[in-house]
Amino acid sequence: MDDADAHASFIRALNTWKCATRVNFNIDPAHPNTDGDVCLIDWGVLPIGTNSVWGRTLNYGTKCGQGQTILKSQLKKFDMVFNSVAPFYKLEDLAGFDATMVDFQSNALHELGHAHLLNHTNHENMVMYAKLGLGQHRRVLTSWDEEGGDHIMSISTQASPGSNCKPPMAFADTTGLDCMPNAVSWRSDEIELFLTYPNPADGEVHFKVVCGESTSGHLALEIWGYNGQMSRKEFVSISGGQKEGKLDINYLPKGIYMICLKSGDRLLAVNKIIKQ
Ligand SMILES: [Zn+2]
Repeated sequence: MDDADAHASFIRALNTWKCATRVNFNIDPAHPNTDGDVCLIDWGVLPIGTNSVWGRTLNYGTKCGQGQTILKSQLKKFDMVFNSVAPFYKLEDLAGFDATMVDFQSNALHELGHAHLLNHTNHENMVMYAKLGLGQHRRVLTSWDEEGGDHIMSISTQASPGSNCKPPMAFADTTGLDCMPNAVSWRSDEIELFLTYPNPADGEVHFKVVCGESTSGHLALEIWGYNGQMSRKEFVSISGGQKEGKLDINYLPKGIYMICLKSGDRLLAVNKIIKQ
């Protein structure tokens, strides 16, 4: 893409996804277009008028399996086209953005969601909502967008048996990116602070809980994988409204997990961690 502002805007969108899901997509402008497996990102002709399309992503998948049994679909490559005549706004600072413009970064973020194999949702505040109107921008992934991407990454980073399966994707190295830790996190009003660090983590995860006196007592920390299975449960006794400690995660396969803080069946807080 030979437009410096669009390129920079696209990289910001790409880094948003990389920070969130650690997807291993990289820009290589020097790569020759003659390689059939290269993902092309370019300007092109797309519908304009009442059914304007700002961008489009084509995914090329392969089915991976053993014999007749399809184990999973895998992404071979994707191509992305952005509307060459759309009134795109390409700058980071939204100060100059107005209701006659289309935000390029929001579009790139959306199309990169499709590159993750995500489809559209019907929630208007989500990046994966199909329509982005003039003057609208959605540059921040909602936790639902992010969970969708995490789900795909949890599949993509695991080895699959089957002779025609591609090797698992490695998580991207996000060193040097300005990523917010624990981009997916939620806490109820009863919890003042629920910190888990470092993220990504290797051998152990430190946690810190600050809560009201009435919430203190016998709480549980549960580690859940995106396969919907709990892989660990540990009880912590909190007195005086505060507790610090650590969890051994050496035994966990690399991947993305949720650490849930609970009181009985009641969910109090959730943080995302990446085991590397
Ligand atoms: Zn779309």
